[in-house]
Amino acid sequence: VYNFAAGPATLPDPVIKQIQSELPSLQGTGMSILEISHRSAMFDDIINTAEQDIRDLMHVPDNYHVLFFQGGGTGQFAAVPLNLATNHHRIALLDSGHWASRAGDEATNLGVSVDTLASTKADHYQKLPQSNQSLSSSEYDYLHVTTNNTIEGTAYHTLPTHGDVTLVGDLSSNFMAEEYNVKDFGLIFGGVQKNLGPAGVTIVIVRDDLVKPVAHIPSILNYSLFVKKNSMFNTPPVFAIYATGLVLKWLKQQGGLAEIERLNRKKSALLYDYLDDSKLFTNYIKKSDRSLTNVPFTTDNADLDNQVIQAAADTGLMNLKGHRSVGGLRASLYNAMPIEGVQALVDFLHNFEQKN
Ligand code: PLP
Repeated sequence: VYNFAAGPATLPDPVIKQIQSELPSLQGTGMSILEISHRSAMFDDIINTAEQDIRDLMHVPDNYHVLFFQGGGTGQFAAVPLNLATNHHRIALLDSGHWASRAGDEATNLGVSVDTLASTKADHYQKLPQSNQSLSSSEYDYLHVTTNNTIEGTAYHTLPTHGDVTLVGDLSSNFMAEEYNVKDFGLIFGGVQKNLGPAGVTIVIVRDDLVKPVAHIPSILNYSLFVKKNSMFNTPPVFAIYATGLVLKWLKQQGGLAEIERLNRKKSALLYDYLDDSKLFTNYIKKSDRSLTNVPFTTDNADLDNQVIQAAADTGLMNLKGHRSVGGLRASLYNAMPIEGVQALVDFLHNFEQKN
């Protein structure tokens, strides 16, 4: 079976096997990872190793903190404005799709003014909005950018211009699937459940000067508190951090992020090349804005799309249904999807096209 779900998504086979073998007893203790205390030396080692592996893989500079939260990307839609929009109470946003717009809604909900600099909603988000204005930190606390738009299938391979305004990146769906320079951001966040592990833990990488005590915000979203407590202000999601740690080791074994991105480019090109040649299926995204991790496509006939999804599932190509707001099909090709899975999908689509 190949699982093309948009998230939670497939995990690398060797990681699943390791979890299975270690589940009854971790490191000979007779206790499962599901049962050990987050205050134990063993878990200290697990969380510290995971942090170091993130630092190594992303070349995180020393003046950035790596934090582990719960609450997903959605939790960070609140945490980021609560912690960072404290000067001007005004942020800028590029409306590149559903999740960018949700982030704007949550900031607005918390009393922050949100200036949408550009939107491609009128183009059905089939290309990316760009910021053409010169932005100034005397006006905005930060600019929110969704690096990869999971539902619409676009990605910023080059970051938008942002003047001297701090850039905040929602990397939820291409975290460590594509290389970015951490230094270009003031803050990066994303749940791990697409490219890096099971649902339950959210990684935040934040520059030191942006972390300051803020009054009257929930402790569970408080960056300064989480820095002080090494992400263990309360009980962290122990299993999710452990499993993410195993995926990080696997990423290192694959050759690190440069190699992973090269593979992800190869995987997505295989599918895009087929779709561009196909007379039945179309991907409508502007070529330079296409995502490496989420590929939406359609026959432009809802009934036929559903037939494809069903027939694919019958052959073990699972979860190809597009998001309800877009319809059609979507193949998510996250880090753990092997190129053999993409080849199997292309072969299936090709055969379906021949028969129809
Ligand atoms: N941002 C992006 C780009 C997403 O794709 C998602 C979920 O798919 C979210 C935010 C919300 O994340 P979560 O479900 O972890 O709260």
